[in-house]
Amino acid sequence: MTKMRRQSLVAYGQPLCETILDCPSPKGSEVLVRIERCGVCHSDLHLQDGYFSLGADKKLDVSAGRALPFTLGHEIAGIIESSGDDATGAVVGRRVAVYPWIGCGQCAACLAGEETLCSNHRHLGIAADGGFATHVLVPHQRYLLDYAPLSADFAGPLMCSGLTAYAALKRHTKRPERGPVLLVGLGGVGMMGLAIARALFREAPIVADIDADKRQTALNAGAAQACDPSDPQARKAVIAATSGGLLAVCDFVGSDKSLQFSTGVLARGGKVVVTGLLGGNFSIAAAMFGIKAMTIEGTLTGTLAEARELLDLARAGKIAPIPTRNRSLGEAQAALDDLRAGRVVGRTVLCA
Ligand SMILES: [Zn+2]
Ligand SMILES: [Zn+2]
Repeated sequence: MTKMRRQSLVAYGQPLCETILDCPSPKGSEVLVRIERCGVCHSDLHLQDGYFSLGADKKLDVSAGRALPFTLGHEIAGIIESSGDDATGAVVGRRVAVYPWIGCGQCAACLAGEETLCSNHRHLGIAADGGFATHVLVPHQRYLLDYAPLSADFAGPLMCSGLTAYAALKRHTKRPERGPVLLVGLGGVGMMGLAIARALFREAPIVADIDADKRQTALNAGAAQACDPSDPQARKAVIAATSGGLLAVCDFVGSDKSLQFSTGVLARGGKVVVTGLLGGNFSIAAAMFGIKAMTIEGTLTGTLAEARELLDLARAGKIAPIPTRNRSLGEAQAALDDLRAGRVVGRTVLCA
């Protein structure tokens, strides 16, 4: 029997450990995917901690309902290795990206195509074993998406960082484009956001990050302007440069500081879409909602339909790949450590 190697969470707040077990045999509609690549996402850090910071020492516990050892990782690209009797369309050898945001399939959210919002979900690497491994079991072939001619290094991260950025940016496309979009935070999601914004919008985006290297990387990748939100003059400078502020901001950080900045540079009628989960506690004068006619909206990754739209855009060559560093599966913990320390530009992708 084929063995499956994994880098698993064996205790919260502790380093990942290698676990080895027999490969599962897919039954019914299930498909076994041999993993080629899995991206390392900032949310993996929170899952390893077992909580999200809510500010002022408050924590959102996310350790419940997950049997340990557990395998993180949700930005998976691989090759179909075998399938259950009912998965007749899952051709062995096909290269696929794995849509990880898999719901129960029965609740109102799932029936509306919003499996990402399912409260009884089986999201891979979150509630079901994920991609820091040599193999992953996927419940149905409909979650397997062709990605040729893209690379596996690019296709895997499209399923979380790409999809999160795409879903956030799409929430700015419903109104006429007046001025550029501002992208706050240039981690993996922010860099994907920059590449995708170039495909969706006429004007090149403005970007903001406290890290000078990340700002320079973004300018090299086509950002119109880059600012340092920790500079006390930055807010005024952005408002001046955009003749009164921005209508469209994506906050890929999700901290008190980033939201102060994102809402502070809005023009009247503007909107901030928040995807980041960094933590903290944000407050704003309630009257500003009316006075500025502003919107703050949150998103949680994207739907299967949006994943298909995004792959279509990428496969048509409209989205430039982001900087990527490959590491071996055994270096999963080192990759998480580097991400936590802010030492990663672009995406780290593990090679199984
Ligand atoms: Zn993620
Ligand atoms: Zn559901």
